[in-house]
Amino acid sequence: MPERQQYFKECRRCHRQILMTFNPSKGQWIACDPEIRRYRRTEDGPETFVTPEGEVCKGERAFDGEYGYRRHRKDCGSR
Ligand SMILES: [Zn+2]
Repeated sequence: MPERQQYFKECRRCHRQILMTFNPSKGQWIACDPEIRRYRRTEDGPETFVTPEGEVCKGERAFDGEYGYRRHRKDCGSR
């Protein structure tokens, strides 16, 4: 089980709080909305989710699905 690396910061564009999650296999920080979501993986969306370990995947919302986050940039600045 990889150690989780996450921290909160303020988005420079929309000034909302975002959760940065590190993906160690890609060496990349991913910006997420901080609310936990439940989702089920799908081939092609309609949404993009991020696991607590920083893996990005396509999926749809589902009550009984896995826990993760939505990728931040999709609705950035729209509120
Ligand atoms: Zn933003």
